[in-house]
Amino acid sequence: MLPATHIRIHSIESFGTHDGPGIRLVVFTQGCQFRCLYCANPDTWDPHGGHTISIDELVQRALSEKPFFGRRGGVTISGGEPTLQRVPLLELFRQLHAYGINTALDSNGRLLNDEVKALLEETDYLLLDVKHINNDIHKRLTGVSNESVLQVAAHRESTGKPMWLRYVLVPGWTDQPEYLHALGQHFAGYRSIEKLEIQPYHRLGVHKWAALNMPYELEEVQPPLREQLSEVAGIFGQYFREVVVN
Ligand code: SF4
Repeated sequence: MLPATHIRIHSIESFGTHDGPGIRLVVFTQGCQFRCLYCANPDTWDPHGGHTISIDELVQRALSEKPFFGRRGGVTISGGEPTLQRVPLLELFRQLHAYGINTALDSNGRLLNDEVKALLEETDYLLLDVKHINNDIHKRLTGVSNESVLQVAAHRESTGKPMWLRYVLVPGWTDQPEYLHALGQHFAGYRSIEKLEIQPYHRLGVHKWAALNMPYELEEVQPPLREQLSEVAGIFGQYFREVVVN
């Protein structure tokens, strides 16, 4: 068990522009309870892997990069799944807020308890990954149910704080028009959702599966074509204020 002053991480990226608003310091934490068939970072799954870093060191690094954050940027904690380390992350976010640094959390929505709710209160932007609206397909795709994901979204909506949804478009798996409409309809009344980001499936992490000696089930799947992405963006555009392809 790590002391609550440290976080176990996979890696850190400076000047990130893909994980939340503006220019950000992005910290990828170690450990994940999902087993997404398309995961590009299966090396983040092991909660005992990676290395540790102290909250103090992360705050100092954020302060050194603060001049580049501008009005909208800040720090994003991604994964793996960050809520596995909710206690030290809450302390980190409190300290970042004390220095006026904006916080974002990229989560798969697997956990919702009082500690996660406290962390979400200190989270300026929740980037919530919704992998599939159909629970059976969600289970096949990730190994777990989507129930908690929908509960996290409903909780965020109840707090009135902003949220972006993220949707990985995997041809043959997550592109069924009826389910895209169902997802849009599910979230249609949500006022907290500022935008939906479509993340095209890619194969950049396939070599990591081989390195970990794990069979890659989506061997035959290719990234979506531009027309496919526009089609899906068109459907989501009927339900969400802003839809972007990330
Ligand atoms: S939630 Fe993210 S890190 Fe976890 S298995 Fe899925 S894609 Fe990988």
